[in-house]
Amino acid sequence: MARKARHLKIYPGGVIIAKLCGTCKTMKRLRDFHKHKDKLGGADNRCKVCNKANHQAWVANNRDEVRTHSRKYRTMKRYLRFDWSTEQERLLMKHGCILTGEKEDIHGDHFIALSTGHGGTYRGNMIPLYSSLNTSKSDINPFEWARNRDDIDPNKWGEVVSMLAARNGLTTNEFRDFVYWCYGNRRSISEVKRDPTPSIELWRRANCIAQIA
Ligand SMILES: [Zn+2]
Repeated sequence: MARKARHLKIYPGGVIIAKLCGTCKTMKRLRDFHKHKDKLGGADNRCKVCNKANHQAWVANNRDEVRTHSRKYRTMKRYLRFDWSTEQERLLMKHGCILTGEKEDIHGDHFIALSTGHGGTYRGNMIPLYSSLNTSKSDINPFEWARNRDDIDPNKWGEVVSMLAARNGLTTNEFRDFVYWCYGNRRSISEVKRDPTPSIELWRRANCIAQIA
């Protein structure tokens, strides 16, 4: 109670209007924080401005890592399946987060992370995600990621999975298998460059061999 009183500004009736940022120690409006279900007031403990500054400081201190990561991202994007227009990108951003409905800070998320050396940038692998969700998902298997977050509505999640499965011409079970296969059979940049076969095709072949054996 004491902590709540010090860190939140609450209107009579229980409406939370502001929160104290743990970093800059400023009382700010709730919309100045990223949403975070597990934190006090449903908002992150650090305001958006401090969060951005923190991220920039991290980037400055991890130049090499960041450079290697973005080079890998660009190369994978270029060599993996790419069928994506700027108009599609615009519509995706306009749509708002597919899981939370958030309208601002939307990232185009590759459902199967490019870092796996699978998937690609096309309708069947792109979803609009709220920035903090996109960051937390990172290159974790999306099914494992979603299972460990209690702020994701299972019905919404099910809809997203069905939609992507359909866009890939798969049933939801096949799509789940396919995603797990991608994360279990990661490819390096040189492997991706060597073999331009779409991941779905590789997965089909791998399944076929398994069945014969
Ligand atoms: Zn702050």
